[in-house]
Amino acid sequence: MSDTVTRFAPSPTGFLHIGGARTALFSWLLAKSQGGKFLLRIEDTDRERSTQEAIDAILEAMTWLGLDHDGEVYYQSQRADRHNEVIDQLVESGHAYWCNCSKEDVDAMRDKARAAGRKPKYDGRCRERGLGPDCGGVVRFKTPLAGAVSYTDMVKGPSAVNVEELDDLILRRSDGGPTYNLAVVVDDHDMGVTQVLRGDDHVNNTFRQIPIYEAMGWQVPSFGHVPMILGPDKKKLSKRHGALSVMEYEKMGYLPEAVLNYLVRLGWSHGDQEVFTREELTRLFTTDTLSSSPSVFDLQKLEWMSGQYMQGADVNRLTAEVTKIIEFEVGRDEAEKLNLKILPKAIPLLQPRAKHLVDLAEQSRLFLVDVAFLMYDETAVKKFLTPEARALLEEIAPQLEAIEEWTEASIEACLRSFIDEKELKFKVLAQPVRVAVTGTTQSPGLFETMAVLGREQTMTRMRRVVEDFGL
Ligand code: GLU
Repeated sequence: MSDTVTRFAPSPTGFLHIGGARTALFSWLLAKSQGGKFLLRIEDTDRERSTQEAIDAILEAMTWLGLDHDGEVYYQSQRADRHNEVIDQLVESGHAYWCNCSKEDVDAMRDKARAAGRKPKYDGRCRERGLGPDCGGVVRFKTPLAGAVSYTDMVKGPSAVNVEELDDLILRRSDGGPTYNLAVVVDDHDMGVTQVLRGDDHVNNTFRQIPIYEAMGWQVPSFGHVPMILGPDKKKLSKRHGALSVMEYEKMGYLPEAVLNYLVRLGWSHGDQEVFTREELTRLFTTDTLSSSPSVFDLQKLEWMSGQYMQGADVNRLTAEVTKIIEFEVGRDEAEKLNLKILPKAIPLLQPRAKHLVDLAEQSRLFLVDVAFLMYDETAVKKFLTPEARALLEEIAPQLEAIEEWTEASIEACLRSFIDEKELKFKVLAQPVRVAVTGTTQSPGLFETMAVLGREQTMTRMRRVVEDFGL
């Protein structure tokens, strides 16, 4: 095992959305590609906004995507003592100080700086006052007075900021609680994190965090910041454009590996390859090809990717998933009345064109229902089940009925010889048969569909059309 340790550190204030999942995926891949460890740390220090429901949802989504973490799940809130210990050390070593300025004082300093055309920030007036814990205030970090904070971002390249841009950051709030920027540094250090990959909304935090590492004499990890995912309108991704919880994609019927593959391509590339196995990803992933410009969420591409995975998915697995969806939709009792055992034979016909599991379940309906419940597409009926067409169906029915062995080949032979004899074009018969048997013009291959449906269902459906559709 290498020394590489990465982590995903979500704040449990909501579901794991698609952007967070992508950050987690990149960190997971970075660890796996280097034979390292991937940690999961729940940053639940904001007690008011963190909920158990959100923690559960994050864990569920990580499991669904197969982003397994090494070791236990860490909870930042349980490490407050350690965070405070480090704050005390920073005060002792002169890198931090107590400050009891009121909010009004700080606001006034900021206004003054702004009026003088400087960056609004705390003016450092408590730096050398030697206050102690009894001042009832906060602890601030003594940001270096001159120079720059610089690092080479794994995604964005060399990055630097002049220290004048940085405030004397609060490390401990007046309620005694450590702040995010302090806690994150202590945790990443203690957990041996070597590479931090996160969203680029954290770039400014990185400039604040690096001086804390340096003040403690700790090794600074490598940082990388991935740009946001944008909507097709090039604005921040909205719910309408896909900024949903990962588990919504499960509900919509997407396979987790399709979502994963789609996400990895939102900002990472390996030549122009689109579809990757998990094994390939863990072998090929490198931060060198993470894009430094924002990616655009494209639902059509997700559907395309999903289709790729549907085509290759195991039939037994699809059968189980479709069964679950149908049971959920119609209830177990109703589901029992359906011909679910046909699914392992019907699914191979449907999966090449299925967009996702829900679509597959929908498409499989024509195989499952008894004739009385088959829905007929009105336009198709009008167009193809004309009196002449139904007369043909009536005529061919006994010939189909008489086929010795009901197979794709024998069905095809029967229909073709009928057509040849009548000197008709094949489609004159094929479309009416298709509509009669499936209810639509959009079905898998006619002969294989009839073969899978079985002689009895096929004939019942044809007879119904001949008898009930008002010749
Ligand atoms: N907890 C932070 C968040 O959810 C992430 C912190 C980090 O990755 O450093 O935005």
